[in-house]
Amino acid sequence: MAEILFHGAAEEVTGSMHLIQVDGRWVALDCGLFQGRRAESEEKNRQWPVPPGQIAAVVLSHAHIDHSGRLPRLVKDGFDGPVYATPATRDLCAIMLPDSAHVQEEDVYYVSKRRKKRGLPPIEALYDYDDALAAVRLIHSVPQQRWFQVVPGLLACFSEVGHMLGAAGVRLELAKRNGDTPSIFYTGDLGRFDQPILRDPSPLPEDETILCESTYGARINEQVDDAREVLREVVSRTIRRGGKVIIPAFAVGRTQTIVYYLHEQMLAGHLPRIPVYVDSPLAVNATEVFKLHPECYDAEARAFHQVTGDILGSGCCTYIRNVEESKALHGRSEPCVIISASGMCEAGRIRHHLKNNIENPRNTILIVGYQAQNTLGRRIADGARQITLFHEEYQVNAEVVQIHGFSGHADQTELLQMLAPRAEDATRLVLVHGEPDQAQVLAQKARGLGFREVVIGRRGDHLEL
Ligand SMILES: [Zn+2]
Repeated sequence: MAEILFHGAAEEVTGSMHLIQVDGRWVALDCGLFQGRRAESEEKNRQWPVPPGQIAAVVLSHAHIDHSGRLPRLVKDGFDGPVYATPATRDLCAIMLPDSAHVQEEDVYYVSKRRKKRGLPPIEALYDYDDALAAVRLIHSVPQQRWFQVVPGLLACFSEVGHMLGAAGVRLELAKRNGDTPSIFYTGDLGRFDQPILRDPSPLPEDETILCESTYGARINEQVDDAREVLREVVSRTIRRGGKVIIPAFAVGRTQTIVYYLHEQMLAGHLPRIPVYVDSPLAVNATEVFKLHPECYDAEARAFHQVTGDILGSGCCTYIRNVEESKALHGRSEPCVIISASGMCEAGRIRHHLKNNIENPRNTILIVGYQAQNTLGRRIADGARQITLFHEEYQVNAEVVQIHGFSGHADQTELLQMLAPRAEDATRLVLVHGEPDQAQVLAQKARGLGFREVVIGRRGDHLEL
């Protein structure tokens, strides 16, 4: 008997985790952190669909925290099996999971302080630094295009999805049963074509069941090349008026994309050579991991690597880890680009850069990533004229520009383009990792393409294979 059990990222986009049961053994596909409203995600992050001690192995599609961030808790709650991931995913997890532990501990510290004032007992962090390291130690790395045994009766193979460094889709093949060998392809997060640095997604394989993400099932985003051009224009005009470009960006992925583009345009003479600063310790570490894995680059990035020896800005970009150097940036007056985290301006050094620069009309605040509701980044992107930082009010006099085209997720057009060749041969298409409105639109479009059976995975649902 074999089945899939949906747990996380079912009709939502965080907490990715689907379980496959093969002859009584459970295997988890991803083990992501639920994010969003605090009370709700707190509770979800502490619940498991089956006892962690009964999970035999985890197969990890990529390092984003909404796909990997609950591994330390799984280990803390009794899991001690292997975690399979690509080499770049393992190296990214080695920096991202300890960083996530730090965020959890910091968060709990503030929550417990508030609870104390109300006479309530402190709460315990989801996991700590040691749990994160214990999880990293369980990761076995397997390169793409190599079959490996996950548990007896289940083989797996990673393939390119072009979403982030190391990200992979997973082909799963079950041992023969009733004369059949059921197979599944789990997309993890599907990326886009023509993204910088990364290879394009491979065609979806001919598997019976496709477990596909649907984040932008109903949305069409800007083309990557258009986004690159807007970036160049924004930086050019800010330089012309003698200002600074402040870019809040996620430390892993988005930061490297922006640095790559700026470096490329400066070398080609399309942008004047001005200083670019990456001010985030996690981004600096992530950049080191990018440099360790040229096997993940596309042909263009490899060629660029051969010419420059470093695709991520040596010569034009300064990477900042320590606080003193970060503070020293506030005193600089010449045009420059400052890329800093967090990506939604909710924490981190970016808040200091905003405080120092947002009131100057010569400067630009450039938003390059998704901004969730109720975040400072969203308020700025939505055109707030005044913001509060460190309990003080600041006027938004700087130019504010938002670029959507750097998204790492396939949009509706790209999803349909990838799915179309499988419409005739796939037995069924299961949509996960999408809000209901996005998944439903994609389901309808997929039926239109000719998929026989299209289902939306719901939390707690079982699907027999
Ligand atoms: Zn992702």
